Amino acid sequence: MTSNNDIQHATRTTMLPYGQQWLDDEDIAAVVKVLKGDFITQGPAIQEFENKIATYVGAKYSVAFTNGTAALHAACFAAGIGQGDEVITTPITFLASSNCVLYQDATPVFVDIDANTYNIDPSQIEEKINADTRAIIAVDFTGQPVEIERIAKIAKQHNLVLIQDAAHSLGADYAGRKIGAWADMTMFSFHPVKHVTTGEGGVIVTDNEQYYRKLIQFRSHGMTKDPNELLKDEGPWYYEMQSLGYNYRMTDMQAALGASQMDKLDSFVNRRREIVGKYNQAFADLPGLVLPYQHPDAHSSWHLYVTRWLPEYFDGTRKEIFEELRDLNIGVHVHYIPVYLQPYYQELGYAKGLCPIAEQYYSSAITLPVFPKMTDEDIDDVITAVKSVYSHRIKKEI
Ligand SMILES: *Cc1c(COP(=O)(O)O)cnc(C)c1O
Repeated sequence: MTSNNDIQHATRTTMLPYGQQWLDDEDIAAVVKVLKGDFITQGPAIQEFENKIATYVGAKYSVAFTNGTAALHAACFAAGIGQGDEVITTPITFLASSNCVLYQDATPVFVDIDANTYNIDPSQIEEKINADTRAIIAVDFTGQPVEIERIAKIAKQHNLVLIQDAAHSLGADYAGRKIGAWADMTMFSFHPVKHVTTGEGGVIVTDNEQYYRKLIQFRSHGMTKDPNELLKDEGPWYYEMQSLGYNYRMTDMQAALGASQMDKLDSFVNRRREIVGKYNQAFADLPGLVLPYQHPDAHSSWHLYVTRWLPEYFDGTRKEIFEELRDLNIGVHVHYIPVYLQPYYQELGYAKGLCPIAEQYYSSAITLPVFPKMTDEDIDDVITAVKSVYSHRIKKEI
């Protein structure tokens, strides 16, 4: 262990998390109102929440689910992904982006990331497309949209379904158009660290009515009561199960919370952008510390602020730097371990070295806290801690 003598002692007495929800009295009142009403699941709050999201992102249809992972599973089902199919995605993402492919007995195919944006590299997608490829799951890592225009063109050319995992990018836009209005289906997550929360929750937005109908059925056991869909009708009680679905329904309490949170989305995103502006300014002239690059057409909603500490510039490992920041009560994190390096995926046969840029990225990345509820003092604590660890660890001869 290196001594911590020449770095400052923790001024914070509590750990600052990397992300956290922001709930106010309006949000709480919205939930209580549902609890005092007639419906606590699949009542009017669900539709209100779904409509609010669809309107916000500019999509026709919106279907809420128990969580973002279930929503991705449903999207894979609606896209017709099944055994023998391949689905292209990125390794620098949360497990759910490719687990949803495995749920459908299909095969995730990992394409390496772009060294600057850390998103899937569009120029490497086509070489992985073959007769079995059915879909692309593009992930807006950190909230920075993928090069969606380019990827949509590739998907169209090869007749692939384009699913956008926008768990990080609610409120972001690409070329001036909101994320949610680009792909065949787009997923948003409402986990507490995401832009707005329902505790647990997720949604798929789409303009495609066929997908919409499949998503609605999949959410509730593959069942329908819709007269337009029934094969026959035995009476007012009659329902049909037409496919194998799940119980992936969100409650009305959660939907009411989500609808209330949506009213604050823009202010949440603005605050995130403000925090990022302060970090960018404070860390602008620190050689060896790589700040997030932004593609000119992408306007991030900043779920995460990822820094890279290039190993050749520092005495000590990423782990030591990480631990020093944690010792200063800065709740840094690492996003993400390349998915295919997980033991489960290794068992499936994915080799180490598959995506070299992703692996190199992973070895030097540290996520700093960004969430709208952070105070200016919290921001200063992060800046002070990063600068202190930086000057302690930077190689003096460089
Ligand atoms: C959070 C997240 C998910 C899954 O969302 P849950 O609501 O937690 O199931 C999927 N993909 C990415 C990139 C995420 O960050």
